[in-house]
Amino acid sequence: MQRRTKIVATLGPSTDDPKVLDAMIQAGVDVVRVNFSHGTHEEHMRRAEQVRNRARAHGRQVGVFADLQGPKIRIDRFRNGKIQLVEGARFILDAELDKDAGTEERVGITYKALVDDVTRGDTLLLDDGAVVLWVEEVKGFEIETRVVVGGELSNNKGINRKGGGLSAQAITDKDRADIKAAAAMQADYVAVSFPRSAEDIYEARALLRQAGGHGGIVAKIERAEAMDALEEIMEATDVVMIARGDLGVEIGDAELPAVQKRIIRVARTMDRVVITATQMMQSMIENPIPTRAEVFDVANAVIDGTDAVMLSAETATGKHVAKVIEAMDRICRGAERQRMDMATERRTSVHFRTADEAIAKAAMYTANHTGVKAIAALTESGATPLWMSRISSGIPIYALTRHVETRRKVTLYRGVYPVSFDVTTTDHPQVNREAIDELMRRGAVRDGDLVIITKGDLAGVHGGTNAMKIIRVGEHLPNAD
Ligand code: PGA
Ligand code: MN
Repeated sequence: MQRRTKIVATLGPSTDDPKVLDAMIQAGVDVVRVNFSHGTHEEHMRRAEQVRNRARAHGRQVGVFADLQGPKIRIDRFRNGKIQLVEGARFILDAELDKDAGTEERVGITYKALVDDVTRGDTLLLDDGAVVLWVEEVKGFEIETRVVVGGELSNNKGINRKGGGLSAQAITDKDRADIKAAAAMQADYVAVSFPRSAEDIYEARALLRQAGGHGGIVAKIERAEAMDALEEIMEATDVVMIARGDLGVEIGDAELPAVQKRIIRVARTMDRVVITATQMMQSMIENPIPTRAEVFDVANAVIDGTDAVMLSAETATGKHVAKVIEAMDRICRGAERQRMDMATERRTSVHFRTADEAIAKAAMYTANHTGVKAIAALTESGATPLWMSRISSGIPIYALTRHVETRRKVTLYRGVYPVSFDVTTTDHPQVNREAIDELMRRGAVRDGDLVIITKGDLAGVHGGTNAMKIIRVGEHLPNAD
């Protein structure tokens, strides 16, 4: 059985060695993330290129996902790189302090308007909540705080306000420049960090298209406000990421499990793709095996119905890059075997908007209730296999397309596998035969198996899927049609 859940791995210093990249591809990575919060455009460009080269060498398709930094609010730097904060001490966030002048008493901040956003009584969480500050007073450019949870605090750590509500714009000047770089590297996905509304997503998409980028948009759900606007953000985006790091800081970690399940459920019913991210295999940054809790976390996300699970520092700076992908692969497969025993999701009150959506979903209903071994979706944009993959199933969905952009895009869709396929004829029996031959070459089907093929009357037309055919392999010769 092929793994259906997709694995996204972040590139970084630990993945630069071509041998490591080869091992990642062999272990089954589907999509790589370049993180614009760190590094230069040249570095990201080089990494994306290197991955595509190695993927080509392995005959694999790997998607590239560019993650924008967004308005992450950070402290500036300390004279000595880091300080120790003691519980009960006073500490000042000073919007006018020089960037490198931080001390045990005060430190600069990257977002000067933070002084207008916070008031006495607010709780500020630094370094994903490792340090907690209580705001006593805001005076001019200084936020005076009391340390509630102390510890080490080092350069450039993030700041969140508990409960959310910071005013920073989602798309910063740096993001605008980074969107152009993402378009230039032909990123298959571009992620907007800290969006508050659908508007932020529409804006990012417009900027990406202006820059000539074809990629899909990922909305990272990591602000408290984004949860209030979840449906409208979902409507605007192609993909959502459950960004558990920042989101957990803003809404509290105890809320996360329920929120994860809700986001996955809403994404699947709205035909959107969903990535579950952050700290899934955190201990494997150092250790060669995951903890039991991590095994359960990955498995639970798969059972909830996520399309993809993501690795961040585990691969970017971790010590066991190939091992962590292998472990994730193994856990996903185990969980998928369990999910298959669950009842097929029945959707009542649905209304199909277009013929291709109706065909896609009817094909899955049929496939799930007959002995079909594989589905071949002949597709231009990838819309048909996307709709198919919103329906729970254990049957592989092959996206047959001549477009490399579409092949890379579907790398993220659960249960969908990209296949390079160029329709050379309008003769339907001939096309069916070529499609089935392609599946046979891949070992997906053999003589006697049932296959579903979906396609349009006119090959090459977007949204043109209007037919579904059930065929038994071996009885599909042109003259038998
Ligand atoms: P990040 O986003 O890794 O870019 O911070 C994910 C998260 O916040 O969980
Ligand atoms: Mn984040």
